[in-house]
Amino acid sequence: MLDNFQRKINYLRVSVTDRCNFRCVYCMPPEGVKFTPHQEILSLEEISRVVDAASDIGITKVRITGGEPLVRKNILDLFRYISANPCIDDISLTTNGVLFADMAEDLKKSGLNRVNFSLDSLNPETFREVTRVGNFPDVWRGINKALELNLHPVKLNVVAVRGVNDQEFGDFARLSRELPLHIRFIELMPIGECNPWAVGNFIKAEEILQRLQEEFGPLETKIKITGSGPAQYYRLPGAKGTIGVITAMSNHFCHSCNRLRLTANGQLRPCLYGKQEFDLKTALRSGAGRQELADLIAKAIRYKPSQHHMEEGWTDRRVMSQIGG
Ligand code: SAM
Ligand code: SF4
Repeated sequence: MLDNFQRKINYLRVSVTDRCNFRCVYCMPPEGVKFTPHQEILSLEEISRVVDAASDIGITKVRITGGEPLVRKNILDLFRYISANPCIDDISLTTNGVLFADMAEDLKKSGLNRVNFSLDSLNPETFREVTRVGNFPDVWRGINKALELNLHPVKLNVVAVRGVNDQEFGDFARLSRELPLHIRFIELMPIGECNPWAVGNFIKAEEILQRLQEEFGPLETKIKITGSGPAQYYRLPGAKGTIGVITAMSNHFCHSCNRLRLTANGQLRPCLYGKQEFDLKTALRSGAGRQELADLIAKAIRYKPSQHHMEEGWTDRRVMSQIGG
């Protein structure tokens, strides 16, 4: 379906939980955020109903995210259900990767097409500092398993944080030379917990690219990767993978935004940075049928703003793990 600004909305990101087994410094405080009570979180059956209704009005791509989606009980059932819908041609996952290796084969069998891992450092100690609890070898095993199972394109999300991982941009680029990994440096967003802290540690994508070019010389441009979305990709000459930047802050990509987000507690959000939400949970729990749900989703699409106003600050009560990053 087209929205009011002629953008084709075909992508639904589903947060299946607001819980997580990591506590990344820019995402959650050490004690975790106040988790939503279980009964307020959509059941897998309710999520499936939303996906079916969304597919009736043109959603063809679904990403499962969170919180950490792999901590959700029986998550494979959801992949199985969605992959049986003939209108959905792409099912992807965003994960911190720590549980991935042991679940990878079952995820693939259940319909997973491709996976994005969040990996902010290649140094196990820095990785532990950023995630507070993460064990680098577990995640690395997951990434290798995804490559082994051809869950391509395998992407790595690296949130760039000054003083934390900005000495590693070159190491990530070298990794893209050796392995078919698509590494995306993401600008730190001043959302939720990390709000005041993020401002002082922010690194513009332009600076990342400049530093890479100083180290490696000119990069190949205009590279297209499946599901490239808002990232701009580059390649080191001869590399098996790519490096990209997501200019979430410095240069918004709202004009080409094709997505809706379903929060873990059943609110449909037309814009990550907008506070407006459409209450699908109440509709689901008061007997709405597939058509009624599709009508509500279509309404949310009509309300999708032309662009976000992040520069006005993040005044939302929610954090990234609740909305689904
Ligand atoms: N737990 C999964 C993971 O980490 O991949 C999925 C959910 S996480 C919220 C999704 C993505 O959002 C991660 O790549 C994470 O790095 C990113 N993220 C979280 N908070 C962010 C922030 N303040 N700025 C930029 N990216 C952020
Ligand atoms: Fe968990 Fe992902 Fe947030 Fe890290 S970024 S705390 S892994 S939800």
